[in-house]
Amino acid sequence: MRDLLPPGVALQGERGIAFVIAGPSGAGKSSVISALLARDPRLVFSVSVTTRPPRPHEVHGRDYYFVSAAEFDRLLAEGALLEWTEYQGHRYGTPKSEVVPRLEQGLDVVLNVEVRGALALKGAGLGHPVVLIFLVPPSWEELVRRVRGRGTEDEAALRERLRIARHELSCIPAFEYLVVNDELEKAVARVEAIIQAERMRVVRCA
Ligand code: ADP
Ligand code: 5GP
Repeated sequence: MRDLLPPGVALQGERGIAFVIAGPSGAGKSSVISALLARDPRLVFSVSVTTRPPRPHEVHGRDYYFVSAAEFDRLLAEGALLEWTEYQGHRYGTPKSEVVPRLEQGLDVVLNVEVRGALALKGAGLGHPVVLIFLVPPSWEELVRRVRGRGTEDEAALRERLRIARHELSCIPAFEYLVVNDELEKAVARVEAIIQAERMRVVRCA
């Protein structure tokens, strides 16, 4: 196909793309991302570092790199993080090493970050396209049911997550795509459609 294109024109998908998935806690970001990764070998997940303790089924190096506060400080001082934030008293950050070399290899990187992190990544000057996707459950009631049903937070932490969720929803206008996660399969197919379309974008190149 390359030989058919006029000079100075390329498909965006010839280079690595960062797909950033944000949205309130309980929207289903982790569930959607694990299904996407299982289906598309060109997608790799950016494993964040966090000072939050692991949940029962979380695996170090797969879901997060679980680090001490001192280790997080060290990574920050070394400039090893592309962006970071504090959320519910714990710190979370995106290691450069999870994103930059993979984009350079032509892989597409999927990130699960909160809203401020998503916007920071867009402005991080990665030199690769950064696509912002906001995931929502079908209703507020369902959001509450999912966070509660996951059973990973006590009542006070849950209420705080819902307070943050209200604020996050107000940031939807800064995003490029809005995906409703009513049924998991449908939500995954919607995000896959975005990924395919972004890869087929016509772009000018040097
Ligand atoms: P997030 O990563 O956005 O916080 P999770 O992926 O952990 O959200 O999902 C929160 C809870 O909702 C989990 O218990 C998950 O199994 C459930 N869940 C995710 N998607 C759906 C869906 N489409 N329908 C019903 N439950 C869902
Ligand atoms: P959780 O504790 O539910 O795993 O994550 C809490 C919030 O932190 C979620 O909104 C998640 O998207 C966000 N998060 C996870 N990793 C990062 C990161 O590296 N950077 C930022 N900014 N947010 C993150």
